Amino acid sequence: GTRKRPLPKPKWMKETVPGGAKYAAIKAKLRELKLHTVCEEARCPNLGECWSGGETGTATATIMILGDTCTRGCRFCNVKTSRTPPPPDPDEPSNVAQAIASWGLEYIVITSVDRDDLPDQGSGHFAKTVQKLKALKPEMLIEALVPDFRGDPSCVEKVATSGLHVFAHNIETVEELQRSVRDYRANFKQSIDVLTMAKEYAPPGTLTKTSIMLGCGETPDQVISTMEKVRAAGVDVITFGQYMRPSKRHMPVSEYVTPEAFEKYRALGVEMGFRYVASGPMVRSSYKAGEFYIKAMIE
Ligand code: SF4
Ligand code: SF4
Repeated sequence: GTRKRPLPKPKWMKETVPGGAKYAAIKAKLRELKLHTVCEEARCPNLGECWSGGETGTATATIMILGDTCTRGCRFCNVKTSRTPPPPDPDEPSNVAQAIASWGLEYIVITSVDRDDLPDQGSGHFAKTVQKLKALKPEMLIEALVPDFRGDPSCVEKVATSGLHVFAHNIETVEELQRSVRDYRANFKQSIDVLTMAKEYAPPGTLTKTSIMLGCGETPDQVISTMEKVRAAGVDVITFGQYMRPSKRHMPVSEYVTPEAFEKYRALGVEMGFRYVASGPMVRSSYKAGEFYIKAMIE
């Protein structure tokens, strides 16, 4: 067969350089606390913007709990995989909560690998981390970006009622491409069900949120119909970013979606009634999440 060359990176995919006084202070404190962030480990190009807090001064960072080894293997993801990862550290909820509380951020995204090996899918560990953090720093804004918990309602309920502000779960791609992009244990209906349940279980005012990577081979019509279904599930926030291939072993990029196309999806999302939409080539699901949250809640 013919081996396709990878697509050349367009000029709009350039990286930004971190900066700002608030960024420098946060970084210094981080070293002291020995806290590891996804922002730094993934060398996220948005780090300067997120950590400096933008116009609202709401600094955002993302941390990962439940270990560095996932029980799943999605075709876009660079996290290591095992059917039997080490057991979670029982002290992690307290330790992480203490570190985050003393770090000087306003908004934290807590995410994790998938833990299909654990009886509660890791949901108890998640809820405990949120509760400990809330107890230490009640004014902290907390987003939990969670796995699908295999659609288990009791797991969703535990996290949705833990005291978080935003319950996020990523559907990752359009309905039609679920099977070829995500792990075989994930699917569109299950993810939509998780988001629907979260909205029902969480206290009023809690936002639900999801994220889609573009450039996986989806058509604009598929994006729009997926957005409609997500909105119909009561999801408040949606984000769009460009899929970037972590290595040659991963699914290739089908297309670099233009900034203009990202802007169209953003405008359409606002029209559909999403509370906010972050959409752009460099956007990750946690991109400036604190700043967007504050702006959405003021409106
Ligand atoms: Fe961190 Fe997410 Fe912002 Fe990247 S987009 S710097 S991972 S909070
Ligand atoms: Fe990566 Fe999440 Fe898929 Fe695990 S479930 S492989 S962490 S995207």
